[in-house]
Amino acid sequence: MANSIRENGSLSRSVSGREMISMPHTLEIIWRNVMVYIYLHLTALYGFYLCFTSATLTATLIWALFLHVFGGFGIAGGVHKLWSHRSYNASLPLRILIAVAQTIAHQDDIYKWSREHRVHHKFSDTDADPYNSRRGFFFCHIGWLMCEKHPEFYRMQKTIDVSDLLQDPVVVFQRKYYYPLAVILCFVMPAVVPWYFWEESLPTAFFVASMFRYVFTLHATWLTNSAGHSWGKRPYDKQINLSDSLLAASFSLGEWHNYHHVFPWDYKVAELGSSRTSFHVVVIDFFAWLDLVYDRKTVRQRIVRSRVLRTGDGSHPYALKDCPFNSGDIKDHSVDDDEI
Ligand SMILES: [Zn+2]
Ligand SMILES: [Zn+2]
Repeated sequence: MANSIRENGSLSRSVSGREMISMPHTLEIIWRNVMVYIYLHLTALYGFYLCFTSATLTATLIWALFLHVFGGFGIAGGVHKLWSHRSYNASLPLRILIAVAQTIAHQDDIYKWSREHRVHHKFSDTDADPYNSRRGFFFCHIGWLMCEKHPEFYRMQKTIDVSDLLQDPVVVFQRKYYYPLAVILCFVMPAVVPWYFWEESLPTAFFVASMFRYVFTLHATWLTNSAGHSWGKRPYDKQINLSDSLLAASFSLGEWHNYHHVFPWDYKVAELGSSRTSFHVVVIDFFAWLDLVYDRKTVRQRIVRSRVLRTGDGSHPYALKDCPFNSGDIKDHSVDDDEI
């Protein structure tokens, strides 16, 4: 059951600066996925409504918030920073915990998520990009999940090295048992815990902690692909179609997308300063303190500054004449495990 939408050809540029011709393409709509996402959103809306009624116990709301934050870390701090970009390393027990968190958020298994994300970085906003923002806000936010992928995606995906992922037994195990694990951890467990431990009604727990929480985390992630590729300034590279969107950074708890596409190996996913904080960096640093995280990679300020001055849009403080860093009054104090 598929419908089609015709796209015109156009010229686009990947993050590496290569110009690529966007070929005319017929988008094939997968109606089964459309129905699934309509169902998910209807149940999530009902769960959202229940949050404001006396039907939902306070403990259940706190539980749903915890699952959102925990699952969100599994995505942004786990499958994104740890497995997709290898911006830090983690011990086996912590990798298992992060894999559990990532499965609670249920956005495909670690292997598939990381592989698609590596394609997204290498071929940003081209036909090969699975969430190509040149097809519009709706497409890169959620529409891409309801369409057949562009043939260029499948062609370019073969050029991406993912051998490191298959050497991680946590990734291999999760991939092998992904669907039963996802059903249990994303939908069953979030509803059963409130029902069993504090006598919440099972339907209320399901609509609030399973469905509403799940869909809310999905949109928080998707905003990085949509708002992060649409709105905001480009302080680090004005040539690329990726922006430091406050909206996307807020929902991702501190990820700035223009910075991230310029320095994808930085585990901070932002140039942290007085006005920028990241919940996920605090968590990763805490695990580093416990000796469960090592090899954190980040970028020296002098490298960031030279990139800002060379390719930024002029909105960064480094580009301003009276910036204290430019006069040498402030020294670079950034210290991490592995600065590049
Ligand atoms: Zn991106
Ligand atoms: Zn990334």
